[in-house]
Amino acid sequence: MKNRIYEMYERLFERFSYQYWWPAQTKDEIVIGAILTQNTAWHNVEKAISNLKNSNLCSLSKIHTSNIEDIKDCIKPAGFFNQKARYLKNTADFFIKNGSFSKLNSYDAQTLRKMLLSIKGVGKETADSILLYAFDKAIFVVDAYTKRLVKRHNLIDTLSYDAIQNLFMQNLIKDAKLFGEYHALIVKNAKEFCKSKPLCEHCPLLGV
Ligand code: SF4
Repeated sequence: MKNRIYEMYERLFERFSYQYWWPAQTKDEIVIGAILTQNTAWHNVEKAISNLKNSNLCSLSKIHTSNIEDIKDCIKPAGFFNQKARYLKNTADFFIKNGSFSKLNSYDAQTLRKMLLSIKGVGKETADSILLYAFDKAIFVVDAYTKRLVKRHNLIDTLSYDAIQNLFMQNLIKDAKLFGEYHALIVKNAKEFCKSKPLCEHCPLLGV
């Protein structure tokens, strides 16, 4: 199995090269984007982030101090805006209370993961996206595209988040850059080929 997981990465990288994720200008923006992307497509998140920027609200400290109604107005394009505005507030409050990125980065990955998961509105995928892309912790992110890939290639006989995460982490060198690139490549491939109706014929993962 070890070779198969890595071979998939190599095939994807050969086809698509670097993806330069996470698409954000600041660490705050990564955290904000990781929450906004829940249950919606990224282009909707981009609109919401653009609105936050135009209102000078695209930072955790601004979200912490701002009126929640102003946040809701900005993030409407990302859907579930009442819920997500509350989640953003909860997360911003957590970061303000617990200190800067550099202070939080002194915790080991699993401790910080538990802390993030204690925030209402931060689930495993969101926490792991923040850990990987904002903190450079070597944690593999599992999203719907990863589950689809695992299922279609019969890589494992369960779709549980933890089992899939373990599958990737146990079969790759523990490296945040590699994990970040692999996740981005899975998303890229899902958008190009592994769609709801798969286009296997020209997909780089055909036969792996
Ligand atoms: S498109 Fe086909 S070959 Fe490519 S990853 Fe999906 S199921 Fe596999």
